[in-house]
This record gives sequence, structure tokens and C-alpha cells, in this order.
Amino acid sequence: MRERRTDDEFRLLGNRRRANSHKIARQDDEFKTEDNKRRAKVLKIARQDDEFKTEDNKRRAKAHKSEGQDDEFKTEDNKRRAEALKIARQDDEFKEEDNKRRAEALKIARQDDEFKEEERRRNALRIHNNRDKYKSNFDDMKSNYESKIKEGPTHICSCCGGLWFEYSIREYTVEMLTNKGLKAEFIDTLCYLKHAIIKLCVTCRKDIMSNKIPNLSLSNGLAFYEVPNCLKILTELEERLISPRIPFMVIRSLGSCKQFGLK
Ligand SMILES: [Zn+2]
Repeated sequence: MRERRTDDEFRLLGNRRRANSHKIARQDDEFKTEDNKRRAKVLKIARQDDEFKTEDNKRRAKAHKSEGQDDEFKTEDNKRRAEALKIARQDDEFKEEDNKRRAEALKIARQDDEFKEEERRRNALRIHNNRDKYKSNFDDMKSNYESKIKEGPTHICSCCGGLWFEYSIREYTVEMLTNKGLKAEFIDTLCYLKHAIIKLCVTCRKDIMSNKIPNLSLSNGLAFYEVPNCLKILTELEERLISPRIPFMVIRSLGSCKQFGLK
């Protein structure tokens, strides 16, 4: 999304579309009430941030002076709202609600034919831009790909022990999980790998948030046993000699079709 937004034309269209969607949606009375409630909430969450609070108080004082009619104030006010929204969106619960609200606003706006046409045009432009971006520049495409796979799936989920790319992992502390209403013993059971920062993959997260221990959780007896120190120093041959099971494989033809398979 960030990359798409670097395209100026697309950004302009996107902003216009959003403004339009808001305009149409705000005509809907019910939506207006909801929206006002939401704004109050954004402000409430943002005001918990000290720096923001100081700024906001300054702004309020200024608003009283200028009665909010001059352009400079309006620009300031918009900036402030954007800032409040940014802070508030760090709150997970708020984010979910906000996404729902946006979807609703879009649904109302889509009833308007003109908006629908505009949206269609915007989507076509976005697809066109995306296709065009790498058309003439293979090197760009290559370096983009390489930078994305550079780190590899190296993040370990504290619950299932799986390896994940950075974007699939969310980081938590015990406190954050407790705040979400999870019990301390539950957190202790599911976090098999004990670290100060708990990393959870998307699959585990889904189960944990509904108060379930994920099927693939290491605490379900899926973890490997600790190898005793005296066994760590064995050579490959010695390991084979004392192993209770020796895996053995041959390749042979299967039936009339003569396909090869492992047995
Ligand atoms: Zn996991």
C-alpha cells in the first residue's frame, strides 16, 4: 500500500475518493451520530498520550481566540485530527471498530453511482500503475524481491515454535495479553518458549484470542526432548549404533505403470 501511495496521481485520487465517501456517508444521519461518537473516542484515546494532550490544550486555547474561522486554524485542526487518529489506531480494539466503520462508510458511499464510477476508475489506474512499475526495469524488480526475502522466515512463534516471516508475527508482552482478558496460567501454558517478548504467529493468535490452546502448540506434547550432554558429542556412526530405530529407505518400481516411489 505504501508503495502504491508513492504515486502522486493515485494518492490525489485516493484522497478525493475518501473525502467524497465521507461526504456522502455523513448525509446519512445514523452514520453521522456514529461518526461523532467515534471522533470523541479517538480524542479520548489520543489524550491519554501526554505529548498529544499538551498540544491539544494549546490548540483549544487558540481555538477560543480565533473562533475557528481562519484558514490557518482549519489546517492545524485537520493535522491534529490526523495525529489523534494515528495514536488511537495503535489501540487494537479501536482499530477493529474503525475498520468496521470504514467498511460501512464505503458501503453507503457505493450506493452513489458517481462514486462507484470514480472508484472503478481509481482501481483501474492502480492496477495499470502496478503493472507498469516494473515493466521497463528488471533490476528494480529483482532488488525489491531480494530485499523482501533477505531475512527469510527466521522469527520463531513462542507457542508453536514455527518459523515465520516478520510480517506474520506480532509481538506481545505478558501484560498486553493479560489486558486482553487472558489468564496468567493460560498464557504460561501456551507460551512454551519463555521469552520476555512473546512472538505469536497468525494461526496461534486466532486460537489464543478465543481462549483456546492452538492444536500445534508445543505445550500439547509436540516439543522435542532435550538431548543430554553425553549424547551431543557422538559422531554420526555412534548415533546410528545406539539408535533404537533406524530409518531405512529404498526406491523401487510400483506396479505396471513403473512409476517410482519411496517405500
Ligand atoms: Zn504459532
